[in-house]
This record gives sequence, C-alpha cells and structure tokens, in this order.
Amino acid sequence: MKIEFVPNVGERLEVITNALEDLFEQLVGQKSLSLITKYLITEDSNYKSVVNSIDENAEVSDNESVVGIAITIFNFNEKKSTIIIENHQIIPLIHGLNSQLPLSDWTDDQLNALYTSLHEIGHGIDNFLRPQVGLEKLNKPFQFEKVCDYYHSIILGEVGANLCATESIPFKFKLSGRNMLINHVRTAYSELNEFCTNNKGQILNELDCFKIIGLIAIVLLKIQEVYIHRANNNEEVCGFFPEYIQLQIKDWVNELENNYPNCEFSVNSFREIVNNILKEFELKRIEINYQERIIN
Ligand SMILES: [Zn+2]
Repeated sequence: MKIEFVPNVGERLEVITNALEDLFEQLVGQKSLSLITKYLITEDSNYKSVVNSIDENAEVSDNESVVGIAITIFNFNEKKSTIIIENHQIIPLIHGLNSQLPLSDWTDDQLNALYTSLHEIGHGIDNFLRPQVGLEKLNKPFQFEKVCDYYHSIILGEVGANLCATESIPFKFKLSGRNMLINHVRTAYSELNEFCTNNKGQILNELDCFKIIGLIAIVLLKIQEVYIHRANNNEEVCGFFPEYIQLQIKDWVNELENNYPNCEFSVNSFREIVNNILKEFELKRIEINYQERIIN
C-alpha cells in the first residue's frame, strides 16, 4: 500500500508517509496491506474531486447528518482497493507518532482518527474476501423484503470491514475510544424514535416507508460496529430495544462473525429483526391497492 498526498507534494512529506506506512504495517500486516494499491490523503476541499477521479460514479455523502471523510473504492478487475481520506483524519496520527508514545497512551482523538484508517483498510480486505459489484439503486414501489435486502447488503459491507479491522484496533480504543461509536447508536436510535413519535397513528406515505426501514438499518449498522469491537467477550450488544430484540441482534452478529466471509444467509435474520423492531414501535405492514405500506 502506497501512501500519497494529493496534490503531490514531492519528497517533502516522505518522512510522514513512511512513518504512517510503518504504523499500518505493524498493526495490519504486509499481506493485508497488499490488497490496497493506494492510500490517498487529500485536502478536505478536494476530497470529492479526488474520489470522483478514481471512480466517477462514487457518491460522496455531504448532508446535515452524514459527511464523507474517507472512502474505499474497489477495482473489481484488479481485486484491489484504493482508499481516499481527508487530511484532518491524518493530522492526529502524525501528532500521535511525533509524541513517540505507545498506542496505549495515545489520546482518544488520536485513536479515533486511527480507527477511521483501520476501518477503511478493513473495507479493502473485505472487498477482496467478498468481492461485490456495486449495489443497484433502491427504486419504487416500496417492497419490504427488497428494501431489507438492500440495507442488508450495505450493512454486510460494514460488518465485513469491522471484522477485518478489529484485530488491528488498539485495545485502548475498544475500552474508551469506542464511546464515539456508542454515541452514534444513541443518535441513530433517537432519530428513529422521533420519526415514529411524529408519525404516530398515520399511514406512512411511500417515501416514509423507505425512510423508516432506512432509520432502523442505520441503528443496526451502528450497533454491530460497537459490538464487533467489544473489549471483552462477555459484553452484550448496546442499544435500546427490548431484551429479546437485543439478543436477536447479538445472535445475528455472532453468526456473521462465525461464518464470515459467507454472509448472505444472514438476510433472513436481518428481516426478522427489522420486522420485530417495526412491531415494537407499533408499526404494521398493510396493503393498499395491492401496494405494501406501513401504518404507524
Ligand atoms: Zn465503512
């Protein structure tokens, strides 16, 4: 894996790129890193254009709730990936390396930034182990199973990245830095809760039917991330659903851990979990004029 700054600054920052390469090699290992051709560090302002120079169809999230800071793009023919990352995710690593302290003494900010890089490298490894073609866009009409399948594929990509990264992640991050990930669960859950409260007693329009499954999927996506990076094996999944759903989520992730990279089977458990969460929020699936809808 070759680390480069874009635009290219020549040999001026070679000391930094070498130090970063050594750090990643020590954590991830040379063999896994060879699955990634380039690791491009961009200024925040040219991130999107660099991403699109690697893949013109790649979508960079840039809205109120999600702002892209790093992405891993798979080249299906080469079976290798390219990572593009904004430099504000790298600066804390440089501070950490300059401090010459062991990773167990790095600050949470430094470990959080390191996590971003390790997670993206995890995507690179997952892309190799589970090569996937790009997902087709989700289109109307709303069909529960189709929408679940779509989000399940997205979540599998994240599960895969997390499973491939977790052994490289410093233990201190798993103990304390992970609070950042737990906060993501909390935020995602309150968005779901707020949406359900605001739509109480209504038949959701078609767009909102897509939206509610998306909101549930984001909560599940965030929960698996925290759980896969657990600090000890006795830990329960974090989250705010009733115990039977929490247990179901735990079984689902455990099964993925045990069977990875063969994950497709897990779509059935995923649908069941989504269905149970809908019931928990007193949402029902109904049919109107032969079209599936959700009533709240
Ligand atoms: Zn990811």
